[in-house]
Amino acid sequence: MKLTIIGTGYVGLVTGACFAEMGSRVTCVDIDTAKIENLKKGILPIYEPGLERIVQENMADGTLQFTTRLEDAARDCQIFFIAVGTPPGEDGSADLQYVRRVAARIGQCMTDYAVIVDKSTVPVGTADQVAEVVQEALDTRGIDLEFDVVSNPEFLKEGAAIQDFLKPDRIIVGANSERAAKIMTRLYAPFSMNRDKMILMNVRDAEMTKYAANAMLATKISFMNEIANICEHLGVDVENVRKGIGSDSRIGYSFIYPGAGYGGSCFPKDVKALIKTSKDTGVDPAVLAAVENRNNLQKKVLAEKIKARLGTDLSGRRFALWGLAFKPGTDDMREAASIVLIDNLLAAGAIVCAYDPVAMAQAARELPEAWLESSRLILANDQYQALENADAMILVTEWKTFRRPDFKRMGQLLNQKIIFDGRNQYDPEEVAEFGFEYHGIGREAFH
Ligand code: NAD
Repeated sequence: MKLTIIGTGYVGLVTGACFAEMGSRVTCVDIDTAKIENLKKGILPIYEPGLERIVQENMADGTLQFTTRLEDAARDCQIFFIAVGTPPGEDGSADLQYVRRVAARIGQCMTDYAVIVDKSTVPVGTADQVAEVVQEALDTRGIDLEFDVVSNPEFLKEGAAIQDFLKPDRIIVGANSERAAKIMTRLYAPFSMNRDKMILMNVRDAEMTKYAANAMLATKISFMNEIANICEHLGVDVENVRKGIGSDSRIGYSFIYPGAGYGGSCFPKDVKALIKTSKDTGVDPAVLAAVENRNNLQKKVLAEKIKARLGTDLSGRRFALWGLAFKPGTDDMREAASIVLIDNLLAAGAIVCAYDPVAMAQAARELPEAWLESSRLILANDQYQALENADAMILVTEWKTFRRPDFKRMGQLLNQKIIFDGRNQYDPEEVAEFGFEYHGIGREAFH
C-alpha cells in the first residue's frame, strides 16, 4: 500500500517507520525543512529507542522517504495519515488549525479515491470538519473525487513507541464506510497476526475512545498522588498501600505510582480538552477538573518539601536535579514536572544543576533562555558532576541509571546528604545507612 504520513513528530515518524517496516511504501511529509533535510541524511529529530535503525534500514530499502512536498507524495496515495500536533487553544479545547490546514492541502493534492486518517488526538466531530475542508478544496479544484475520513487514534508511549506500534494491545479504527474499514483492516493485518487486535466502531466513538483512555490513566495518577499526600500526614507509607491495592486485579499495578505529577504532550492537554468538551455538552466535568487540579498541585509538592526543610529563601542554596524529561525513555520535556520545579527553585533564589541522560540538548533548546543565561540553571555533563557542592539531590525522572547510584560517591560530592525522591525510587532505610536524610512522596521523612 502507498501511504503518506503528514507531520513527522513522535507519532508521525514512528507511524511511518513502522508501516514501512511492515511492508508499506511510506512517504513522510513535514513543513519543517530542517527536520526533513536531517531525516534524509538519517538524522532523527527525537530520541526514541530502536527508531533510528528502522528509519535508516527502510530508507536504504527505498520503502521510507521524506519530503516537504505533499503534492509529490500525494500522487496515487491510497491512505493519508494526519499526524500533526493538536495543542491546547486558549479555552483549553484542542487547537485544530494544523489539522485543518493539512486537510485542505490533502484536498488540493489528492489524485484518486483515498482514505484520510486522523491519527492526531482530536475531539469528537473533527472527522466531519476534516471531510468538509477536503471537500471544499476539491470543489475549488472543480474535481469530483471520493474519499473517506477515518479515526485511528494512536496509543503509543514515548520511550516504548516502536514496541507499542508493532505489537499494539488494540487498534482502534472508527470508520463510517465499509470501503474504508476494509482498507484499514488490510493495512493493519500484519500487526494482528496472532489475534485480531482491531476494534472497529464508528468515527465519533473512536475519537472519544482516545480521550477516555488518556483521562482514565491521568485519573489513576492523580488519585494515587492524592492518596500519597494523605498518607504522608498520617504516618503511612504509600508504597505499602500501592502494593496492597495493586494486587487487586480490579485495580492493577500500572499507573498507581505516586510522584511529582504527570506531564508530557498528551495527558495535560487531553484532560484539558475533555474538560472543555464536557462543559460544551453541559456536563459538569467534576472528576476531570479534580484530576487536573491535583496534578497542578502535585507538580509543586517537591518545591514545597524543599522549602519546608531548607527555608523559603533559598538564596545561595544549590540543588542537583536528576531527570528533566517528563518520563524515562524520551527526550520530550513538554509539561515536565522538572520545569515547574526549576521555576520554583530559581524564584526562591536557588542555583540548580541539572542532568538528564538524553534530554540535555532538548533542555538547552527549550528551557527559557533567561534561566540559562542567568547561570543559576547549569546543565551538568553527568549525574555525579551535578551533585558537586549541592545542598540536596532531587530525583525527578526515574531513569534506570538513577535507580542504583553509588550512594557513597554521592555522599562525598554533596554538600549536605539530603535526597528528595520525587518518584519513590530509593529505600529510605538503605539510603539512611549511607548517612542520607530522605524525603519521598507519600511517606514520612527518614534519617
Ligand atoms: P509533534 O509536535 O512531535 O509533531 C508534529 C509535527 O507536525 C511537527 O514535526 C510539525 O512540524 C508538523 N506539522 C505541523 N503542521 C504541519 C503541516 N501543515 N504539514 C506538515 N507537517 C506539519 O507532535 P506529536 O507528539 O507527534 O503528536 C501528534 C499528535 O498525536 C497529537 O495530536 C498528539 O496528541 C497525538 N499523540 C501523541 C502521542 C505522543 O506520545 N507524543 C501519543 C499518542 C497521540
